[in-house]
Amino acid sequence: MSGVALHKIVKRFGEAEVIHGVDLAVEPGEFCVFVGPSGCGKSTLLRMIAGLEVTTSGQIRIGDNDVTSAEPAERGIAMVFQTYALYPHMTVAENMGFGLKMNGHPKAEITQKVQRAAEILKLEPLLDRKPAALSGGQRQRVAIGRAITRGPEVFLFDEPLSNLDAELRVEMRAEIARLHREIGATMIYVTHDQVEAMTMADKIVVLRSGHIEQVGAPMDLYDDPDNRFVAGFIGSPA
Ligand code: ADP
Ligand code: MG
Repeated sequence: MSGVALHKIVKRFGEAEVIHGVDLAVEPGEFCVFVGPSGCGKSTLLRMIAGLEVTTSGQIRIGDNDVTSAEPAERGIAMVFQTYALYPHMTVAENMGFGLKMNGHPKAEITQKVQRAAEILKLEPLLDRKPAALSGGQRQRVAIGRAITRGPEVFLFDEPLSNLDAELRVEMRAEIARLHREIGATMIYVTHDQVEAMTMADKIVVLRSGHIEQVGAPMDLYDDPDNRFVAGFIGSPA
């Protein structure tokens, strides 16, 4: 199992520096949650780990590999987004197996991995449906299933539940937590939802304007926030 290590990560868009030298170690198997206000750099950081944004300077390691300049497909990660962009003309099973198919994996292996992901996410009865015939929660489950099928060492989630209604969010939260227990992969999860952060995280990273304000276990940050900003996000109101 692979952890993720960030060393002095800087990101500039043109003249504007938006990530100012972030150091972070996410341990193998850890569920790490990034929280912070809109625009603080959560998505940018995640996209650099995924290889979807160029890292201006610094180093990203996944397991033993320096992946700072590696292609996304070489990093051993899978990312789940807020909008789940399923292929409308493909069935659930085809959507989930598409990545492996593109990489030339044999049909029998794809079927077996799709089946396993469908079991984990209770998608078996829906495998022959098209996305249009699914609810929002079911579609997001397929997007997560697509990530599982690829068998990554590291899962990256960018606010995956923010398009779902409150009831479904609670259900999906439990489901992702169960997924983490079952497959034991390293997960980095971006949210602006305090409850999600508190209930799901082994470790919370509080970001503010492109730097890390504080890192800690949920109860440590709750009981002992370093400052008012952290307290405002996850601290106790006292
Ligand atoms: P968050 O996900 O925490 O809301 P983002 O990572 O999306 O924040 O954005 C961090 C900062 O980087 C913001 O100031 C945003 O405007 C800027 N930014 C993000 N993407 C781009 C881009 N492609 N070009 C220029 N600026 C960007
Ligand atoms: Mg974002």
